[in-house]
Amino acid sequence: MKNVDYIIVGDGYAGFFFAHQLIRNNKTFVMFSEKKKSASQVSAGIINPVVLKKFTTFWKAQEQIDFLKNTLKEIENYTGQNYLIDAPIHRIFHDENEQSLWLKKSGNDDLLNFLDKNFDRLNVVKNDFLSGKVNQSARLNVNGFFTGLFDFLDKSGKLIREKFIYSDIDVERSTYQDFTFKNILFCEGMGVVQNPFFSDVPVNPNKGHHIKVELSEKITENITIKKKHFLFPVNDRLYFYGGTYDREQLHHEIDESAVEQLKKGLMEFYPHPFEIKDINFGFRPTVKDRRPIIGRHPEHHNLYVFNGLGARGILNGCYFSKSLYDFIENNIPLHEEVDLKRFIIKS
Ligand SMILES: Cc1cc2nc3c(=O)[nH]c(=O)nc-3n(C[C@H](O)[C@H](O)[C@H](O)COP(=O)(O)OP(=O)(O)OC[C@H]3O[C@@H](n4cnc5c(N)ncnc54)[C@H](O)[C@@H]3O)c2cc1C
Repeated sequence: MKNVDYIIVGDGYAGFFFAHQLIRNNKTFVMFSEKKKSASQVSAGIINPVVLKKFTTFWKAQEQIDFLKNTLKEIENYTGQNYLIDAPIHRIFHDENEQSLWLKKSGNDDLLNFLDKNFDRLNVVKNDFLSGKVNQSARLNVNGFFTGLFDFLDKSGKLIREKFIYSDIDVERSTYQDFTFKNILFCEGMGVVQNPFFSDVPVNPNKGHHIKVELSEKITENITIKKKHFLFPVNDRLYFYGGTYDREQLHHEIDESAVEQLKKGLMEFYPHPFEIKDINFGFRPTVKDRRPIIGRHPEHHNLYVFNGLGARGILNGCYFSKSLYDFIENNIPLHEEVDLKRFIIKS
């Protein structure tokens, strides 16, 4: 029998940010990865404190941004890589009304650190009404982050590239196959619907597509452009544009109407030829009240869930991994807005 403090099931943002909490606290663990491309791996990597439709802040925006930036520095200490890309979001305005709304909101206490009062004219793209910069916004190098962390866990013998089999858990004895564990943390994203212990956790899939395109005219600024969706370079050749939102078409294939929507969206502000080179999609685990779901199983106190990260997997995943760790290890109560207890879970 191998003894571990934790088994983590799932290898997206929830799983990896929780793994980081375990690493910094010298806990032993293994992570199960079923080798599928997670929603996290197809995400854009946008780190954004502002809701860009209405120009309002995201919940606990400053705290979450600060915490993420610190955490990424800590991760850099053991992977040797910086995954934070300093390329602020520029939101292209549709009209003068949006400009005035932005300016008005930029005076609000909660937004003044985020909405830049000086507007910018961007090169190459159409921006007749200029663009507003979101201060403190950035991007995660998604590919680098997952490559670096998978590699780190693999080399330290903590990664198990297998599907976790729920029926092999003995909750009374705290064993799973040839492991004994103190706790299991389930971070399966939409895969949670297969989990007999947490299958009624109310997460709903929201399917998102992105495209990777070759642009005939390169964007000259080191920024992330937001118009309908996000546009930014992924390497010398390709740009990312996405992602869409769809709660209806939930099949596991590419949806042509989503691709069409992305093409149209890009053509609205990029007036030059481009070619689609790749299409990907994933399922965001979303919750009606737009808050993550974190907590302990009502009957089996060695089983925990970390899910519902929604459209903000990076900020939510990073910030609430610490809340969950403190809850399990230090008995610090969970914020009631994220606590699993707000829902009735059958045991
Ligand atoms: C197109 C798109 C763009 C996005 N852009 C952004 C963005 O820019 N910024 C942002 O913050 N968020 C973004 N998101 C949202 C973000 O991706 C999600 O919030 C996040 O991925 C959820 O992370 P998770 O770890 O809960 O789940 P997931 O990323 O889905 O990871 C769960 C993993 O667990 C594995 N798993 C499940 N069951 C088992 C099992 N039994 N055994 C082993 N492994 C198992 C799954 O295969 C999966 O790999 C985007 C999402 C999409 C789809």
